[in-house]
Amino acid sequence: MKKAQEIVAKFNQERGWDKDITYLKDFLLNICEETGEVWNLIKWINIEKQKKVIEEHKDEWVDFIGDELFLVLKIAYLLDIDAQEAFEATMRDYEKRFPAEKIRKLKHGNPLAGGVDDKKEAEESKK
Ligand SMILES: [Mg+2]
Repeated sequence: MKKAQEIVAKFNQERGWDKDITYLKDFLLNICEETGEVWNLIKWINIEKQKKVIEEHKDEWVDFIGDELFLVLKIAYLLDIDAQEAFEATMRDYEKRFPAEKIRKLKHGNPLAGGVDDKKEAEESKK
């Protein structure tokens, strides 16, 4: 992660795009745009067809992952956020919110659909 952040920082510095948040909102929209590109591949089709389309368009999914990682790391760069620390904090939070033993039984993390999300407990433990 640290190496990836350094690559993004160098890329931006070489282009004189140093720490300017003028276009922060555009990077956020860009994340949605990239999501829309892959959504277009699988929208409104059943799961079997989705599997086939994903396999046939794997290169576009590879681009999606690369583009999204760049955009997230670009935002981290602009805001001086350590992406490794942010990721580790998120995973610590998810470990509390979605306890493996409960999730294995209930299958997912949506309480409205019978799953479990111990968000309140996770918030309390941060205090
Ligand atoms: Mg793209």
